Amino acid sequence: MGVFNRILTCLCLVGLAACVPTVEAVGESSSIPDNKSVSHQINAETLAGWRKAVPSWYAPVEPFRIIGDEKRGIYYVGTEGLAMYFIPTDEGHIVLDGGMPDQGSYVADAIRKLGYNPEDIAVLINSHAHLDHSGGLAELQELSGAQLIASEGDRSALEGGFYLGSEQDANLNAPPVQVDTGFSDDFSFKRGGVAMAAKVTPGHSRGCTSWTMNIEQGGKSHEVLFFCSATVAANRLIGPPQYEGIVDDYRKTFAMTKDWNPDVFLSNHPQFFGFKAKREKLLAGDPLAFFGKEDFSKFIAKMAVDFEVGLEKQTLKHNAIMSE
Ligand code: ZN
Repeated sequence: MGVFNRILTCLCLVGLAACVPTVEAVGESSSIPDNKSVSHQINAETLAGWRKAVPSWYAPVEPFRIIGDEKRGIYYVGTEGLAMYFIPTDEGHIVLDGGMPDQGSYVADAIRKLGYNPEDIAVLINSHAHLDHSGGLAELQELSGAQLIASEGDRSALEGGFYLGSEQDANLNAPPVQVDTGFSDDFSFKRGGVAMAAKVTPGHSRGCTSWTMNIEQGGKSHEVLFFCSATVAANRLIGPPQYEGIVDDYRKTFAMTKDWNPDVFLSNHPQFFGFKAKREKLLAGDPLAFFGKEDFSKFIAKMAVDFEVGLEKQTLKHNAIMSE
């Protein structure tokens, strides 16, 4: 379990910027494996390890509508620790993120519980190519034949089924998934009356993508942000970095996002946006429970501070090793 404990404290979780990753080779591959060999490496033992190490990622949440109405809504189809979203339309549905490699069927079941057919998913989108958010996409794509729209920065990791810069670590593999439409920066698409816009907010992954859409509630239109992430998490910032330019990318993202003030801030880890308390408020009858104009700016300001702390810690550690 040691390897899982080490990875999980590094991966994607908020407030763990102090974690300095020590990613070691696990498994047998010595080069970037082809799609088939990656897929085969995600064995039951690896997944059992993740389940045990991060139970919240597998703790079910009853699917529900976060915002909108019968005609147009954003639905939560994630777990206690991983947020996945479902946006139904008359011209095929949209799904953002697929959870862990064995959670495509969880998302599909959640969609069925809401009264929709997961085979009618037309478009899959992704926040970023890390196994806890992209892992279930291949299964959903196979089930529905949906096209995947994702950033060029994350394309190699999605199609290769690896964590960029940690290709040797089989515990971080995800089932390879075909990207049908790629984009490099601003991108938008429309489907069944829903307009989604993407902005690449790189750093946490090279192609980390934040999505926005507008939705009506109470006769007004509201901007919803699905923020990618900006935690240091398992990323090496120096010596050698997870990918070339990672530090500049994080800083670019903090500069770009500091003035964003969406009406509704959502993200791929529920704890980023106070999911639990907001859901309780919603269940208690407050239809505006997920609204909060200041929520994102407070969050991103803290992320920027945490990043500099994380960078300093990694730098000190790197310098100490170099001077030994
Ligand atoms: Zn991540």
